[in-house]
Parts: sequence; structure tokens; C-alpha cells
Amino acid sequence: MANAKKITKNADGSHNVPDSPVIPFIEGDGIGPDIWRATRMVIDAAVEKAYAGRRRIEWQELPVGEKGYEKTGSYLPEGALAAIEENVVAIKGPLTTPIGKGIRSLNVAIRQKLDLYACVRPVRYIETVPSPMKHPEKIDMVVFRENTEDLYAGIEWESGTPEADQVADFMKTAMGVDLPPESGIGIKPISPANTKRLVASAIAHALENGFSSVTLMHKGNIMKYTEGAFAKWGYQVAEERFGDRTVSEARLWEDFDGKVPAGKIVIKDRIADMLFQQVLLRPDEYGVIATPNLNGDYLSDALAAQVGGLGMAPGANIGDRCAVFEATHGTAPKYAGMDKVNPGSLILSGAMMLDYMGWKEAGTAVRAAVQAAIKARRVTYDLARQIEGAQEVKCSEFAAAIVAQM
Ligand code: NAD
Repeated sequence: MANAKKITKNADGSHNVPDSPVIPFIEGDGIGPDIWRATRMVIDAAVEKAYAGRRRIEWQELPVGEKGYEKTGSYLPEGALAAIEENVVAIKGPLTTPIGKGIRSLNVAIRQKLDLYACVRPVRYIETVPSPMKHPEKIDMVVFRENTEDLYAGIEWESGTPEADQVADFMKTAMGVDLPPESGIGIKPISPANTKRLVASAIAHALENGFSSVTLMHKGNIMKYTEGAFAKWGYQVAEERFGDRTVSEARLWEDFDGKVPAGKIVIKDRIADMLFQQVLLRPDEYGVIATPNLNGDYLSDALAAQVGGLGMAPGANIGDRCAVFEATHGTAPKYAGMDKVNPGSLILSGAMMLDYMGWKEAGTAVRAAVQAAIKARRVTYDLARQIEGAQEVKCSEFAAAIVAQM
């Protein structure tokens, strides 16, 4: 499109989105091309329908992963990250982790280099999808998982190595702590700055999207100076940056007799193991959940299972400079090129992307059409084998069935 333009960001974090924005995409490896084709078809149709042709996405392919290696000799070619950053928003399929090529994980490299510090995973029930819950429709949550630190920072030393011995020596001589012999050692850094930016983005999301609470999930009863500090800094940033729009659960009872003042949301905290019980027993009491990296990893997958599995769970990695929307599953190599798998996760990630751009009518249209297509029981093999009376269709046919519902 001749009038295609870049999305730009304002100092306050808001976006300027032209009617024909350039959006880079990474098709991905394995099943990536199949699910990307399906996703593009659905997103384009939703945008066309929602804005009667006035708006259109100008897709720009970034060769990353195996395609990047074939074209340029690099799995993550120069320029790909710059293109994502320049265009503010991007979408990607799953990428194979190249074994023995000196890259720990392409996905991790993308997240780290672009400082995508919030892993955002909405969890919402889609009618007809089999769920182990009695009332899965009560689940409407968004997990904001810190993406850059905690035990996942990769600061660890293997048992029996000189490095592990050196750290153990330091612990003994300088800190007076005796570790069991030959311990493997990992470090759990949690910082105020990284906690505060994550919790602030969770609160902003809750305020913008009509959630009534943000829960700080932590294990601070045991790990006081990391997880406990996460909760403390979370409450602090709520007060510092959103004091007029938030009230802590403690103050709610002390000052407001348990009634949430108009225009405010509640900030509460829950111990991690207790929250796992609560999301099963009283899911409607939770909306946005902000949590350190490791807890967030466990909770996101558990919640996805509660509404019927990972195959349909969307996700995004979001930072201050840009955001990358992606399928939450891997490349499923045994199904590559078979036009067989469920494109739902990437399609719903595309709907999140449209919301993030402020194109909420199109995002809502995608979700409604996915719901309607599944209700009509024309679904891919993974759902067909679980839904009584369902007809199995190919990946591309499922996308066409979704478009037909718009
Ligand atoms: P996987 O998610 O690729 O596949 C596991 C199984 O889940 C598949 O065999 C299939 O039965 C099922 N499955 C996955 N996606 C599906 C879909 N869309 N529809 C229907 N069924 C689906 O996990 P894996 O086998 O552990 O990983 C394979 C590769 O993917 C590895 O190289 C791994 O590094 C990579 N990976 C990438 C990402 C990412 O890019 N974000 C995430 C996870 C794994």
C-alpha cells in the first residue's frame, strides 16, 4: 500500500496508529507457516469487516529462524530486531531452538534484546471447548508475568564445577552460610525497578480494560527479600503512580468498610500456593494477576488448562519500546506442512495485538468469530477428538470457518 506508515509511540506510552500500519511478522518454523497463513486470513478479514475497508495492515515479513538461516546464514538476522522496534508491534509464530548453533533460545534472545519485560497471557473460556472446571465461564483473568529476572535469569552454576565451588566458598567465608557439598547453585534476583514497571503495566491494563482488581502473587512468606519484596514494591508503585485510581485491600477494609470507592480498583496480594487453590475455587474473584517469572510460568499454564488447554492460549511479550504477539505453543515439527494443527493460539494472539493497537472492534470480531466457529463444531483434530459431534477440518478450513462467522 502506497500510504502505509509506521506506528509510533508517544512519551506517555500511548500509540499513534495510522490506517495502514506496517506490521512485521515472523512466520515461524515447523507448523508456523500453516498457522500464520490461517491467522493472517482471519486478521485481515476482521479488520476489513470492522472498518469497511478504511483500515488495512501492511504486513512485512522478517526472515527469522530456519527461514532466516536459509536466506542470510543467521537465525536472527541483523535488522530483524530493529524492524520490530521501529514498527512498535509485531507478531510471530513459534521458532525452533537451533541445537548446537550457539543460541540458547531464539525466543529468549528476542525477549531480552527488545527488553520485552511483561509476558501477558489472557485466560478466558471459549464455549464448547472441553474444560475440567464445573464453571469455566467464571474465568476471565490476565497474567502479567515478569519476563527478565527471578530464577529464570540464567545465573546458575553446575554441581562440581570450579565456579560452583567458588560461589560455595564465598558463601561460607564471606556470608557464613554452609551449603551442602556439591550443590548446584542458582541466583534469584528480583529488583524494585523491574518489579515496579511490570506491576505498573498490569495496573494500567486493569484500568483500561475494566478489571476490578490486580493481585500480586508471591511466595513472600518464605522468600522475604525477593518474592516478599515483589509484593511490597507492587503496593508502592500502585500508590506512587496510580494512587487516585487504586485502593489496597487492607485500606479497603480499614477506611471504606469493604466497599470499593467509585472509579478505583483493588490491589491485593496472595501467597502463590493459596492463589492456585483460589483460581480453582473462586475464579471470579480474580482479574489481573502480576507475578514474578517462575510463579507466572506455572500459573499461566495451569490457568490455560482450566479453560481447556494450551492449544488455544494466546500470549504477548510487551516492553516499553515494542510488543511481540505470539502463539504460546511450540513448532510441533511432526505436523509441519500438513495443514492440520489448530491456529487458535496465534489467531487469538492476533486479536490481542489488534486490541493493543486500539483496533478493539476488530479484536472483538476475531474473538466472537472464533467462539462461533467452535460452537458450530467444525474444528481441528485436537478439538475434534474432544468435542462430541464435531467435524474435523484442516487448519486452513478452520480459518475459513472463522471468517465465515464474521
Ligand atoms: P510443541 O508445543 O511444539 O508440541 C507439543 C505437542 O503439542 C505437539 O506434538 C502437538 O501434539 C501439540 N500441539 C502444539 N501446538 C499445537 C497446535 N497449534 N495445534 C494442535 N496441537 C498442537 O512443544 P515441543 O514439542 O516441546 O517443542 C517443539 C519445538 O518448539 C522446540 O524446538 C521448542 O524449542 C520450540 N518451542 C518454541 C516456542 C516458541 O517459539 N515460543 C515455545 C515452545 C517450544
